[in-house]
Amino acid sequence: MIRGALLLAVLLTAGAANAAAPCRTSGPFNQWLADLEREAMAQGISQQTIAEAAPYLTYDQRIVNIDRGQRVFTQTFLEFSDRMAAAYRIQRGQALIKKYQPVFNRIEQQYGVPAPVIASFWGLESDFGANMGNYRSLSSLTSLAYDCRRADRFRAQLLDALRLIQRGDLTPAEMVGSWAGELGQTQMMPSEYYKYAVDEDGDGKRDLLHSAPDVLASTANYLVGLGWKGGEPWLTEVHVPANLPWQQADLDIQLPRAKWASYGVTLADGRPLPADNLPASLLLPMGRMGPAFLVYQNFQVYLQWNNSLVYSTTAAYLATRIAGAPPLHRGNPPPALPFADVKALQTMLARAGYDVGAIDGFLGLKTRQAVKAMQQKYGLPADSYPTAELLARMRGGH
Ligand code: CA
Repeated sequence: MIRGALLLAVLLTAGAANAAAPCRTSGPFNQWLADLEREAMAQGISQQTIAEAAPYLTYDQRIVNIDRGQRVFTQTFLEFSDRMAAAYRIQRGQALIKKYQPVFNRIEQQYGVPAPVIASFWGLESDFGANMGNYRSLSSLTSLAYDCRRADRFRAQLLDALRLIQRGDLTPAEMVGSWAGELGQTQMMPSEYYKYAVDEDGDGKRDLLHSAPDVLASTANYLVGLGWKGGEPWLTEVHVPANLPWQQADLDIQLPRAKWASYGVTLADGRPLPADNLPASLLLPMGRMGPAFLVYQNFQVYLQWNNSLVYSTTAAYLATRIAGAPPLHRGNPPPALPFADVKALQTMLARAGYDVGAIDGFLGLKTRQAVKAMQQKYGLPADSYPTAELLARMRGGH
């Protein structure tokens, strides 16, 4: 998944990771483009479609510069969710669910995806269609497909963008979106658009830029494609006791809710959890002193949408807020480690043999797993959230 605008806001992985791996572009642009057009035709894309698109198949160095220069700044879950799950967005989401109630009802019946889940992505990705990006998609995709670093990935996206034109969903001129080629009110990449978009309003076009019904149904269809299970929850805020076996708080560990209840986990307001067998993981995005959630199988769909834990947790939480949940309990989490300290920590963890993914200063899922292993080694509460104490112990080598 590539989610350009939000990647910039939350984390940047691809740019930083790829900057270290030099590569070479494959010859002059015009030659490359001629080859691309031949390949498109060989795949059944018409000469007419290619001719329509041709004026937009241009190289834009600015796009590659953005992609290569992605600046890394990280935000904690609370920083990000305070901003992104703001009151106006909750209220607007609720108002739009009312406005499109019959559409949402039909969609929930057909796809099993509740309205607040769709509205949350709609709000986060484009502020409900208000901000879809200002970049010419075909030029973005052409530039990123010509650039050597992720050429294959973006070449496939570009070919699917041409298929969208051929199918009559959008004209080349209408294809305006994020710098990374995402389109429409829930910012789908062209390949997702081509595969999952549906014509809910029945005008013969799958229009994810202008038609709210098309956007909502297509988003639901995409979520089902990512594995959404109708009738199941996605995230519930909980209260955790001080003596929990913290190493159980791990997205790779699923326990029945009854088991969590036996550990003393309750609903956030103190009422008991349903004592059933529904599998759930305990998610502590800022460690054991911060907010706490049980997340269910459907949470994996959020991680498929965007594998940033901060984004996914925020999107899932915002959906519960739109559905009427009260604001979360903030707890008293330790201060976030500065960027340079996370990088230092990753370097030490990698040197100690742990897989932290890219050493990018970003606290991703792999880094959290490595932190957990190190906490267990030091006999610290293994909540996967790095603290200054852990860093000091590792620097001291004891
Ligand atoms: Ca339509």
